Formats: sequence, structure tokens, C-alpha cells
Amino acid sequence: MSRFFDPKYDTLEAYTPGEQPKDNVLLKLNTNECPYPTSPKVLAAIEAEKAFRLYPDPTSSRAVSAIAKYYGLSEDQVTVGNGSDEILAFAFMAYGRKICYPSISYGFYPVFSQVFGCDAEEIPLTKDLRIELGDYMDKDATLLIANPNAPTGIAHPRDAIEQLVAKDPDRLVIVDEAYVDFGAESCVPLIEKYDNLLVVQTMSKSRSLAGMRIGMAMGNAALIQDLNTIKFSFNPYDLSREAIAAAAAAMEDAAYFEETRGKIIATREWFVKEMQSLQFEVLPSSANFVFVKTGSPYFHAMREAGIILRHFDKDPIRNWVRITIGTDEQMQRLVEETKRWLMQQITGGKQ
Ligand code: PMP
Repeated sequence: MSRFFDPKYDTLEAYTPGEQPKDNVLLKLNTNECPYPTSPKVLAAIEAEKAFRLYPDPTSSRAVSAIAKYYGLSEDQVTVGNGSDEILAFAFMAYGRKICYPSISYGFYPVFSQVFGCDAEEIPLTKDLRIELGDYMDKDATLLIANPNAPTGIAHPRDAIEQLVAKDPDRLVIVDEAYVDFGAESCVPLIEKYDNLLVVQTMSKSRSLAGMRIGMAMGNAALIQDLNTIKFSFNPYDLSREAIAAAAAAMEDAAYFEETRGKIIATREWFVKEMQSLQFEVLPSSANFVFVKTGSPYFHAMREAGIILRHFDKDPIRNWVRITIGTDEQMQRLVEETKRWLMQQITGGKQ
């Protein structure tokens, strides 16, 4: 830290992203990316984008209109950002003065709270690592719920979230749906009914575009206007020309999206059964990852075997690892390595 850094950041603990190795030797099952390539139609749209001399459209209107069309919303109910991380940052700036979220959830929430000076309350999960929505019912603060939650993968049905939204029309509920496309119910259909609901999604996971940095927010037009006010006070050109083209094409290529997310869900179901048959506890996942109680030595052993998983060294999830769902072949390799490791545990490593 330099001597010029504002002392208000003295205790700021920045977010630690999952490891991004520089070579392709390791099998990356650590940051919930899509294992399948970006849609060929999206790649063609990116390729066609040539006018880099010019600034991009600050309203990203091609992307906004494709998202609105996909969800049957009007364009003033949608905005986009440089990854949903940026959208969430804007939401913390706009609505985070008092904010409530689970103590085990996306690791960026506490960082945003700190950097933007929010008054945050973290609510513990239940013993079986679930979010108890009843704990949030009477909170007088903005509520932020990841659905499905990360890193557990557990989802609540739309009806349950709706009860939170309906409970107090003067309280904003933000639903982070980064993983919703892998089997959970989106709250987007509730947007017409409630003006105190903001839904945040990303193209990083189910649309195979993590490297393009595209996130989106959907909600009542007044909420979207708030987020755009923040965005235009910070970085109006937050999506590149390529990202705008990619976002529009990704929403239009529904067939590719359905195919890849279907494959990931099928692989997840297979992988969960395999891990359960090896006697591991696995939380019920509606995401493109699963949370498995393996203990941390397993995490290090898999790293030695060339497979990177994600481990959070904090209570009460210290004995769990988060495993991104890859292709069938990748998950078969992980199962093989897992069996080898289990065998070594039994034989005391003498094999
Ligand atoms: N929300 C959750 C719950 C996440 O896990 C992530 C991915 N790390 C994000 C939001 C942000 O994703 P992105 O910025 O790539 O859209």
C-alpha cells in the first residue's frame, strides 16, 4: 500500500477470484465457466464487429433489446453491465445503505459492502447450509439473495422468493440469478407485478461468455433508470462493441443455449450420483456446480492430479469443495481421480 492510499481502505479485503492458470494443462473446474465453446453465431457476430475506431453505443441498445425480447419485457426494464459483478456493484451503490444477505453466499457481497461503506447484516445459513427465507421476512433493509445460492447450489422456488418481495413493497429485493438457467425458477416473470424486485443475471455461465464480461439487470423501469444513472456517472462505455454484439447474438441463439445447458444439467445429475455412490454428501444443486463434503485434503490431492476445484477456507464450509460441472469426459476423469484418491486413503497411500 502506498502512503497516498485513502486510509478509509486500510482494512479493505479485496475479492480473491478463482485461479486462472496461464496454460491449458490443468483441468479447470474452479470458476463455474461453461465447458462448451461460445456459440458459433456469437463468434460470427463478434467477428463482424469492426468499427473499433468508434466508441460503443453507451446504451448497448442491441443487447438490451435482445434481452427484453427474450424475456418479454420492455427495453426500459433492462440494462447491461460489464459482468454481473458491475451490475451488483451499481446495486450496492444505489440500494446498499442498509443491506442484508446470507453469510455464506457470493464472496463479492462483503467486499462491495466494505468498499461502498454499506451497513451490511450477514445472516447465517441453517445447519444444513440452506438459506432460511423466514429470517429475512422482517428485515428493514435491502435484501440480496443469490438463487441458486453460491457455493451451495441450493435454489428456492419462485413462490418462496415472491413471499419476500410481497411482504413489504417498500423494501427492495435483489435476486442474483447467476446460475438460474441450470434448473432453478427465475423471478423475471414477477417483474411486471412488483416494482421492488431487481433480478440480476450473467452471460458468463449458461451462455459461455465469461471472457466477454456481460451481465444484465431486469426490473421496474425506475430501478433500471437508477442503475443507468450510476453507470453513466461511472463508465458509460462499459460494454465494448464486441460485447454488445455478442450479448445480442447470444440471446438470439436460444437453440445453442438450450443444448449446452441441457448437457450440463445431465452431466451434473450423473456426476452427483457417482459422488453419492462413493459415499460423499452432495448438496442438491440447481447450478452448474456441486458442493461436495470431501474435506480439504481432497481439494489439494486433485490439484496435484491436475484438476483445480474451489475451496473456501472458512466455517462452516471448510470441509466442502465446489466443483464446476464440465463435459462428460472431464467429469469422468475427476471421478477416476477421486476413486484413486479414496483407494489411497484406504491403503494409507501404499498403492
Ligand atoms: N453472482 C454470483 C453468485 C457469482 O457466482 C458470480 C460469478 N463469480 C457473479 C455473480 C458474477 O459473474 P460475472 O461478473 O461473470 O457476470
